[in-house]
Amino acid sequence: MRDTDFFRRWMDTATAAVEREADRLTELDSPIGDADHGSNLLRGFMAVRAALAAGEPAVASPGEVLQLAGRTLISTVGGASGPLYGTLLRRTGKELGDAAEVSDDALREALYAGVGAVAQLGGAAPGDKTMLDALVPGVAALGTSYRAAADAAEEGARATVPLQARKGRASYLGERSIGHQDPGATSSALLLNALAEVAE
Ligand code: ADP
Ligand code: MG
Ligand code: MG
Repeated sequence: MRDTDFFRRWMDTATAAVEREADRLTELDSPIGDADHGSNLLRGFMAVRAALAAGEPAVASPGEVLQLAGRTLISTVGGASGPLYGTLLRRTGKELGDAAEVSDDALREALYAGVGAVAQLGGAAPGDKTMLDALVPGVAALGTSYRAAADAAEEGARATVPLQARKGRASYLGERSIGHQDPGATSSALLLNALAEVAE
C-alpha cells in the first residue's frame, strides 16, 4: 500500500527532476515552441513544493496531495502544460478519494482516468506529438511495473521525434515540427520516472 508520504515524495522527486532538467526542457521547446516549457514547469513545481509544505498536516491523504499539486499547477503555469498536468494530477487524486493508503492497482486505475482526462481536455491522441505519446504507453505499462512504465514513457518521448505535431503550439509549424522531440512528452517521462524512483 502507498501512503500520503509516498505521494509527497513522488511530487518532491518530480520537482527535483524538473529543477535538474528545466534547461533541457526549454531547449526542446525552442525549435517547435516558444522556449518556455522548462521555466513553466519549474515555476509550477516550485509552487507545488511550497503548497505541499504549507498544507501540512491538513493535506493528509494521497488523493489530497495530488489534488493540491494539480490545483497549484493550474493556477501557476500559464502555458498549455499547466492545465494539462494540473488536470492529470487533480483527476488522478479525485479517483483516489480520501483513503489514507492506496493499492498499486488503485493508483494504476486512477492514473488511467487522469490520462483520459488529459486527452479529453486537450483533444489529442497518441501520435499527435504531445505528452500523451509518453503518458499513454507509460500508464499502459504500469501493469508490469513502475520501472516498465517509466521506460515505456521514455521510449514514447523519443518516438515523438519523427512525428508531425497535430496539437498545441508545435502544430503551427506543420512539417517543420518533424525531427524534434516533444518537450511535454519528455517531461511526462520525468514524472513517471520520479514515480518509479520512489516506488522502488
Ligand atoms: P505552451 O505550448 O503554451 O508554451 P508548454 O511549453 O509549457 O506550453 O507545454 C508544451 C507541451 O504541452 C507540448 O510539448 C505538448 O506535449 C503539450 N501539449 C500542448 N498542447 C497539448 C494538447 N492539446 N494535448 C496534450 N498535450 C499538449
Ligand atoms: Mg512552450
Ligand atoms: Mg508558452
